[in-house]
Amino acid sequence: QLADTPLAITGLHKSYPGKKAAVADLSMRVERGQIVGLLGPNGAGKTTALRMMLGLLRPSKGEIRLFGHRLGAGSPALSRVGALVEAPGFLPHLSGLDNLRYYWAATGRPMLQSHLDEVLQIAGLDTAAKRKVRTYSQGMKQRLAIAQAMLGLPELLVLDEPTNGLDPPQIHRMREMLRRYASTGRSVLVSSHLLSEVEQTCTHVVVMHSGTVAAAGTVEEITAIDGEVTFVVDQPRA
Ligand code: ATP
Repeated sequence: QLADTPLAITGLHKSYPGKKAAVADLSMRVERGQIVGLLGPNGAGKTTALRMMLGLLRPSKGEIRLFGHRLGAGSPALSRVGALVEAPGFLPHLSGLDNLRYYWAATGRPMLQSHLDEVLQIAGLDTAAKRKVRTYSQGMKQRLAIAQAMLGLPELLVLDEPTNGLDPPQIHRMREMLRRYASTGRSVLVSSHLLSEVEQTCTHVVVMHSGTVAAAGTVEEITAIDGEVTFVVDQPRA
């Protein structure tokens, strides 16, 4: 069962020179089919934690296991993880579909048309796939970016604040997209600073505060904690 767990983290630490630890003693797991929300105010250490999980940043201490394998440089388990941590640049004069093809060609991995079709459908971009990206709304571009991270149908999808800057209808579409993805038995880890958002999208929540876990559990368990996690209810950044 342990080998099957997409993500298991124990005692993770990261300090930047001259500052207090950005992540301190972080332990958490993501099981199959779960949508886990990593919730915390700006500066809680979410981005730092996600970057370590993706092998983009080396922890000062602690262990990260992906599908039972200890994460190290060039870990093959990383090919089972898809991620969006920074907005990718798209070619505006190409269609959404061609942007995805162009991106995938650069990975050198074979493209499966069935994957492409499934991902576009999950992203709700199937009818817009042949339109040029410059005609896309912000929400559509954001879903295309996540579609790109989903292209290999990774077993674990990691997203850093994917709804930042989106309006409520677009946030709703994003939520549907993540639910459709997880309903296929795959897992999602998504960071956010808004409890309302995590509450409606996720099955489980890990609340981060000052680099560590302040609370963790199912959405029902977390929302039942009266008052103690209200500090995470933050205003969206402009
Ligand atoms: P945000 O939503 O603002 O990105 P976050 O929860 O993702 O917040 P982090 O970005 O991980 O938090 O930042 C955690 C702490 O680490 C903050 O105090 C931040 O200033 C610091 N920090 C982050 N990146 C660096 C860096 N490259 N060098 C030095 N300090 C950093």
